[in-house]
Amino acid sequence: MAIGRRELLGLAGGAAVGGALSPVPWKLLDDSAIWTQNWSWTPTPARGPVTERFGLCTLCAAGCGVKARCGSAGVFGVAPAAEHAAGGGALCPVVYGAHQLAYHPRRLRTAIVNGHAVETKEAIAEAARRLEAAGAKAAILDERPGRIVSALYDRIARARGGMVVTLAQVEDRSLRTMEELAGVDPGTLGYDFEHAALILSIGAPLLDSWGSTGRMSRLWSRRAETGKPVFVYAGSHWSRTAQLADRALILRPGSEAALVAALAGKLAIEAAAEITGLSPASLSDLALRLREQSPAMVVGGGEAASSGLPETTERMIAALNVAIGARRRRRPRSA
Ligand code: SF4
Repeated sequence: MAIGRRELLGLAGGAAVGGALSPVPWKLLDDSAIWTQNWSWTPTPARGPVTERFGLCTLCAAGCGVKARCGSAGVFGVAPAAEHAAGGGALCPVVYGAHQLAYHPRRLRTAIVNGHAVETKEAIAEAARRLEAAGAKAAILDERPGRIVSALYDRIARARGGMVVTLAQVEDRSLRTMEELAGVDPGTLGYDFEHAALILSIGAPLLDSWGSTGRMSRLWSRRAETGKPVFVYAGSHWSRTAQLADRALILRPGSEAALVAALAGKLAIEAAAEITGLSPASLSDLALRLREQSPAMVVGGGEAASSGLPETTERMIAALNVAIGARRRRRPRSA
């Protein structure tokens, strides 16, 4: 019999249908999947005891307590240390993957000197050489002050007769103004939220990733038992903080100074109501609460994504804190 195109197509179609219905290809696929999971090329982590180590997150000034779960090959998991005061059993999302950052493809692996990539050791030696050669004072820019490494920056700069220049974080903007007015070093003052009866946020995102991860949410959730602190938000955004606050006052954008002046008794309530868009009754009530629910405190700084409140407004907030007798305490300095 002559084999033509018709027969060939029939044969190919029959083979395809027969192969799909036969268990052979599926069994082969299954076996090869199992086999490749166990062959000698598969990396096998060394077996050993699982231990836990405790430390502090160094990514920001909050220094939350971290528990690292370690195997013989290194850290394989990160969790919050529930007993630690900072963080209080919560961490930022990024920290849960911190142990994998060492393998991140975009991780910085080299330093740059004169536009060329060099080893870190070379860059350090070059920096030391230039400092020696110039005989000049060194200034180090620390964009995220308050971390453990910040203390090292401070030590190096002081050893060179220089200084560390820092950028104020959103949490520190109001504190910086108070420190300037009080004539104390940056980082000396801190907020004693745990003993406050009322906290007034002037646009500060207190209930929205502000400060250490667990601190504000812990305070907020405890109010049902202790009745304090009372959170009051006064700002121009219907933010998460505004939504979670016990009381939210939505102002006209840019009218924060008028609000603070009225609360300090330096501007007539009616005039402030006109500027801020709030009712005179709500302004009077807030001014009264600030004085009656002691200790109260006022936090400025503005939204995280903004450049903050004007300097004059921050100064007015600092003066208002003094007027209402806000309690402050010294922040323990890192070693
Ligand atoms: S707030 Fe987040 S980044 Fe800062 S120390 Fe705590 S876990 Fe780390």
